[in-house]
Amino acid sequence: MQPNFEKVKSDPKKEEFKLRISGVELGNHSFSIDCDKRFFELAEIPDVQEGNVALRIDMEVLEKIINLDFHFKGFVTIPCDRCLDPVRVPLDFEEHLVVKLMPWQEGIQEEDGIWIVNENEYELDVFHFVYEAITLALPTRVVHPDDENGNPTCNPDILKKLEELSQPAKNDDDVDPRWEALKHIKESKKH
Ligand SMILES: [Zn+2]
Repeated sequence: MQPNFEKVKSDPKKEEFKLRISGVELGNHSFSIDCDKRFFELAEIPDVQEGNVALRIDMEVLEKIINLDFHFKGFVTIPCDRCLDPVRVPLDFEEHLVVKLMPWQEGIQEEDGIWIVNENEYELDVFHFVYEAITLALPTRVVHPDDENGNPTCNPDILKKLEELSQPAKNDDDVDPRWEALKHIKESKKH
């Protein structure tokens, strides 16, 4: 059997997030990337179980600046804060990134939506940028919505359990016999 060199190479899905900027004509370019099952497996965004988000990147290439507009549209599933069953969360948002090309820059300097990169850089890897954009777009609290009658659409078994746990353990008709016995002892001591 041949040694598997493929494992050393980057995942093909990750490669899709490397945008070539070297030798690209000035003007507007557009890319589409599927943030699909494989993307979410690789990204491992906290709480996100699965998802499918269509990403369109509009790239405007100027002499020393590249403007990138990211359009996200799709959904992710996140465990419900109440019952832990998955909730489908729609996503529809945009992010912007400005890339400045500098002759002496070494590596990438990032600050406040601006990347400064060397003008001879071959490509931009936006995988982590996309990871962060989706992470920041997620709501802080996710619960199943109520139905038209105002009842929660959470997992009914879990709801029942939660209700049982929140109920006081006893009511007045059902007094613990040990407590009754104790009361009698106290009463008799008074006399
Ligand atoms: Zn729920």
